[in-house]
Amino acid sequence: MEFRDLRKQHEVLSESIDAAILKAVAGGHYIMGPEVKQLEAELAEYVGVRHCLTCANGTDALTLALKAWGVGPGDAVFVPDFTFFASAEVVAAEGATPVFVDVSEDTFNIDPSDLERAIAEVKAAGKLKPRAIVAVDLFGLPADFRRICAIADAEGLLVLEDGAQGFGGTLDGRRACSFGDIATTSFFPAKPLGCYGDGGAVFTDNDEWAALMDSYRVHGKGSCKYENVRIGINSRLDTIQAAVLLEKLKAFKEYELDAVNAAAKAYSKRLSGAVKVPAIPTSAGSGWAQYSVLLESSEQRAKVQESLKAEDIPSMVYYPLPMHLQKAFEGSAGLRECPVAGSLCERVLALPMHPYLTEEQIDKVTSTLLAAL
Ligand SMILES: *Cc1c(COP(=O)(O)O)cnc(C)c1O
Repeated sequence: MEFRDLRKQHEVLSESIDAAILKAVAGGHYIMGPEVKQLEAELAEYVGVRHCLTCANGTDALTLALKAWGVGPGDAVFVPDFTFFASAEVVAAEGATPVFVDVSEDTFNIDPSDLERAIAEVKAAGKLKPRAIVAVDLFGLPADFRRICAIADAEGLLVLEDGAQGFGGTLDGRRACSFGDIATTSFFPAKPLGCYGDGGAVFTDNDEWAALMDSYRVHGKGSCKYENVRIGINSRLDTIQAAVLLEKLKAFKEYELDAVNAAAKAYSKRLSGAVKVPAIPTSAGSGWAQYSVLLESSEQRAKVQESLKAEDIPSMVYYPLPMHLQKAFEGSAGLRECPVAGSLCERVLALPMHPYLTEEQIDKVTSTLLAAL
């Protein structure tokens, strides 16, 4: 069994994807070609924002947003303690200070109450200027943007939605990647919408920030590529990747998003009561980048993983370390106690999840897991 069966997906979509790749190759515009423009238009429409700009990966997408806002030394940026490293790495890379915020045990997403405490602490210390909040849509579920945006408004902070795992999620009838002042996503192959290499995108309704990010992604270009008005980066999407994504987006909209939701429902039906299954608030929908359950202890998790492995069932620990314990942040000014994040790292376990999971596979995973308990 595969954890995320990308080969199966290619098998199903191969006719259209292979033809799209060959067409892009024959077209001769290999970087930011016509398929890239078309993809940006389709993504902006799907998400429901004015601007989508693609780039080289989801990490660069976050960087482009921070550069457009001029986030740098002396700035505090609030980041959940339980996330993929890139969410915090980009903040430190710009010279700003990531301030870690605990998460909710129910949703795995940033805890708005601890966010308020963290902001108050930074203001009381008086050393850093609170600038922005990175709200991650972890495992596919949009963060609690109602409360996060209210806090940001009250405190004058910008909201950066890290939707690398969020694509396809919904909240209050709106799609993920539309909630932040700027939002980002990643097209890394294993993400909800993945390409055949690296890729990413930024989303915003703000014309000025969109123009700035368009400049930053091409070496700080001015009116043309060879007039450079700021120090930028080189972060573009290949035309072949856009061609792949256009085909995959069709399948995503037509049935893949429904299929992962059906798989999650089947998992939860069988597992709830025995382990803590993901809680999806009534106003929200998940794109199920991961289906993660919570065990009682790290010992119980190790036992379950062992049993799954014996049956050839892959499982993953996302994530084994909270940000505040990462060596790279040792001694950083933004370290805070985040007990929930620490506890999740010991107990969380992600099960195989993708649109092509069969009922038999779900049966096998759940019966093996239940037997191991
Ligand atoms: C994958 C991921 C990223 C980075 O995306 P890349 O395309 O791999 O650079 C950032 N944030 C989160 C939460 C992610 O899961």
